[in-house]
Amino acid sequence: MKDHLIRDQLKRPLRDLRISVIDRCNFRCQYCMPAEIFGPDFPFLPKSELLAYEEIERLGRVFVGLGVEKIRLTGGEPLLRRDLPVLVKMLADIPGLDDIALTTNGVLLPKLASDLKTAGLKRVNVSLDSLDDELFGQINGRNVGVGPVLKGINAAKQAGLGVKINMVVKKGLNEHEIVPMAKFCKLEGLELRFIEFMDVGSTNGWKMDDVVTKKEIYEILQNHDALEAVEPAYYGEVAKLYSYKDASARVGFIPSVSESFCSTCTRARLSANGQIFTCLFNGNGHDLRDFMRAGATDEEIKARIISIWEQRSDRYSDERTAETIATRKKIEMSYIGG
Ligand code: SAM
Ligand code: SF4
Ligand code: SF4
Repeated sequence: MKDHLIRDQLKRPLRDLRISVIDRCNFRCQYCMPAEIFGPDFPFLPKSELLAYEEIERLGRVFVGLGVEKIRLTGGEPLLRRDLPVLVKMLADIPGLDDIALTTNGVLLPKLASDLKTAGLKRVNVSLDSLDDELFGQINGRNVGVGPVLKGINAAKQAGLGVKINMVVKKGLNEHEIVPMAKFCKLEGLELRFIEFMDVGSTNGWKMDDVVTKKEIYEILQNHDALEAVEPAYYGEVAKLYSYKDASARVGFIPSVSESFCSTCTRARLSANGQIFTCLFNGNGHDLRDFMRAGATDEEIKARIISIWEQRSDRYSDERTAETIATRKKIEMSYIGG
């Protein structure tokens, strides 16, 4: 592990960077970009406001110089950004960067998986919340069945990418899919990560009652299959992992709501228009794009990032109360990419 050059107010190093490359998506998942709100007239960012690949790479280099080891590309749907493998290659060439991953709904993977792998991508997380075509079509808000996502998963495997599956579980919606999804992923040798439904943004109508907690999911799983806890592989690993006693596949949980992990949160987020967010739930972004476009040098950009990180004291999930839920200014998940 690298020396971490900067620490925030709670002594957390800066280790990971999530980069949203686009705010648009070909899905309208009801927990993320509900179709009623993200309709045909929704004001998505014009191209001129998105960071160009050269700008993303430049910021990537500065972040890596400050201790970032991992970059994850996300969105919106990152595979909608034209020529994404070109960006992956530019980032993969940054000396000192250990890992590049991508989170995607998977639909465009058959077209892109092989080029992404060649460009230097190592892993993908594919989001899939159900194996039932009708329910999945309802959840993604575009009536897309499961088939295109499964094809994407296969394409990624065949290209030699590591594949994990993300499943958001929402009460009354897809709890009954927990066991079928677990069985399917175990059979396919895929690590499945159950994500608690989160109160990101202000458009998804989140209520605490809609959260299926890690404990509840774990109990449902244990009734079907024996699980053993796996020790975290590194500081700041957000997933709580378990292995099956009789198979090599693992399951993980991202218990953001019921067992928050702010004390080890080492992640910064760069939005598609070049703002830094220091927490998924902190709506105050810090501009880097206009600063860069106005002629800032790498040293000046570095100093700005250091100042932002050193002032960081976010621990929203640790502090979540009815009051913070109602009053916090929040940012949409599709904008900063989860
Ligand atoms: N479009 C890509 C995808 O769906 O994988 C990448 C962007 S998406 C915002 C990143 C991840 O956030 C996905 O796994 C998605 O399921 C998750 N997500 C979105 N809204 C969420 C919410 N309200 N609570 C928990 N996870 C959420
Ligand atoms: Fe799109 Fe991903 Fe959000 Fe679904 S979760 S609407 S696929 S950005
Ligand atoms: Fe990190 Fe904010 Fe999530 Fe806490 S709530 S783990 S600080 S992103």
